[in-house]
Amino acid sequence: MSLSGFVCFLRRSLLQLEGRIVQATGLDRQFVPALAVHGPNALPQTQDESEETTEPSFLDHVLWMAAPKKRRTIEINRTRRRSSEFMIKVKNNIEPCVECGHLKQKHILCGFCYEKIRKETARIRGQIRAMEGGPLNTPAQETVVLYDSESPGEADKNKRIVETSRKRPSWFSTH
Ligand SMILES: [Zn+2]
Repeated sequence: MSLSGFVCFLRRSLLQLEGRIVQATGLDRQFVPALAVHGPNALPQTQDESEETTEPSFLDHVLWMAAPKKRRTIEINRTRRRSSEFMIKVKNNIEPCVECGHLKQKHILCGFCYEKIRKETARIRGQIRAMEGGPLNTPAQETVVLYDSESPGEADKNKRIVETSRKRPSWFSTH
């Protein structure tokens, strides 16, 4: 019981006690005219009425949930759990990579080759950053990467040249 409920209960008990005392002493309570207000039900109720209608019940704190009516057997449960919709689908679109031989899905880039290229590109970018100091200093030119024992040709005249001492990877074409 909440505090307001307890106060209401105390007040009701005192009123009853007062009535009994008045009856025992023979003095009748004097009835005085009271103010009656006619209005819609949407108006807030007085405290006494609301306390009576919202008496706390033990059912207020019970969360009612749907309960199964019959027990399902273990066969039915296993049939549902092991149905084909829960099985892992068999993939038939696996093929070896033409470049490296690792298995990969068809029409999808090989992850192994992608990682190789990503690392080499990051290395070249780091070298360019060390050369020029930042992306804002990048010249508006085409870039050519020269590996070990390579010299710029005729087509590389007006290009930015990035030279490295490493060996050219087999997958890195010159053009
Ligand atoms: Zn590959």
